Amino acid sequence: MQTDRYSLFALLREAMRGNTGWKPAWRKAAPAPAYDYVIVGGGGHGLATAYYLARRYGGQRIAVVEKGWIGGGNVGRNTTIVRSNYLLPGNEPFYECAMKLWEGLEQDINYNAMVSQRGVLNLFHNDAQRGAYIRRGNAMRLHGVDAELLDAQAVREKVPFLNFDDARFPIRGGLLQRRGGTVRHDAVAWGYARAADRLGVDIIENCEVTGIRIEGGRAMGVETTRGLIGAGKLGLACAGNSSRVAAMAGLRLPIESHVLQAFVSEGIKPFIDCVVTFGAGHFYISQSDKGGLVFGGDIDGYNSYAQRGNLPVIEDVCEGGMALMPRIGRVRLLRHWGGIMDMSMDGSPIIDHTPVQGLYLNAGWCYGGFKATPASGLCFAHLLARDEPHPVATAYRLDRFARGAVIDEKGMGAQPNLH
Ligand SMILES: Cc1cc2nc3c(=O)[nH]c(=O)nc-3n(C[C@H](O)[C@H](O)[C@H](O)COP(=O)(O)OP(=O)(O)OC[C@H]3O[C@@H](n4cnc5c(N)ncnc54)[C@H](O)[C@@H]3O)c2cc1C
Repeated sequence: MQTDRYSLFALLREAMRGNTGWKPAWRKAAPAPAYDYVIVGGGGHGLATAYYLARRYGGQRIAVVEKGWIGGGNVGRNTTIVRSNYLLPGNEPFYECAMKLWEGLEQDINYNAMVSQRGVLNLFHNDAQRGAYIRRGNAMRLHGVDAELLDAQAVREKVPFLNFDDARFPIRGGLLQRRGGTVRHDAVAWGYARAADRLGVDIIENCEVTGIRIEGGRAMGVETTRGLIGAGKLGLACAGNSSRVAAMAGLRLPIESHVLQAFVSEGIKPFIDCVVTFGAGHFYISQSDKGGLVFGGDIDGYNSYAQRGNLPVIEDVCEGGMALMPRIGRVRLLRHWGGIMDMSMDGSPIIDHTPVQGLYLNAGWCYGGFKATPASGLCFAHLLARDEPHPVATAYRLDRFARGAVIDEKGMGAQPNLH
């Protein structure tokens, strides 16, 4: 008998029989000629969409088509931070929906995704920033989301290793969301893939979409490196490759693709028990359960589809780290890598129909889409199943750029590289 459900009992049973009964986490599905729903992109968002479609909306005959392998895209490349500390009414309910789904995710999908609500602390360094964080914290609380303003002394007690005393940008306090934290990124991909597979979803890896078949203004299916796959409804969840894939249907998206890098140091003893973001430069840091410091900063600043970064941003991120916590200079950098970000013009995502009938779009996640994964999947599944937006995603329309109804969370204007 093969072991299907993960539990303490299953662990003990497999320990007794030499771990011979574990089932592969998901089948290696071959493409069928047609499905009711085809999702392009086997990242976190595509897999979560397939899962919720099958689980909550009774969807059947669902396929996820992935050009590489599960976990090879941004879902396995990010710095694992989840939070719902947003300001604008278009965003906050959506990200809080995601946070609530994170809180029950492991039980829901029967997978240890290492959800760790260790807290996210955004530091501020001057009065203007303090004012902005008070406003943000109040907006969060008005939406029923936890937010605490810490003064400098409280920050010092929580994270005493920062540079408080002779810093160029003295730390005045911080906005803390205790329910924020980290989730093991690739476990999210594997967990959703396994849970969707158990509900009958075909996860088709090594299958690149090379064209979108459109007849009479309606999307009929996708041409792939493994043949034509017919689709009743076609959903695109291709993150950094969204513009490329949408172009196959003749669409030009309000999205630019940029590289973002992440960094991991050698493992050291535990000393950071939350996520900390620097307010006077772009630098953020947490510590993995293996002891590595996980950190990152700004995007590389030019359009690219290359999943690797460049030296100037490595220098910039390390300077940010040194300014915030000079002791980081004694730690060796072990690895760094890049992912392609789908940067929208206003910094907020799109979950909507497209002008092509039967073709739906999930994109524009910028560098904050990991935290959105469960809600993005749920809302995209809702849209695909019911042809109407989920109540927490009503603002994420594609035509908002034409209507001037942008959701400019950072107040940067139509400048994708600044969001
Ligand atoms: C370095 C870095 C750090 C980040 N840190 C954070 C963070 O701390 N918190 C946070 O919230 N977000 C973070 N993000 C952003 C987050 O990872 C992304 O917004 C999110 O993962 C994107 O959604 P996804 O998981 O579906 O993307 P992906 O995993 O990239 O999935 C898209 C998939 O589409 C596939 N695809 C593309 N084209 C085709 C095609 N033609 N045919 C078939 N398949 C195709 C790709 O191979 C890919 O697997 C970070 C990103 C990076 C790169």
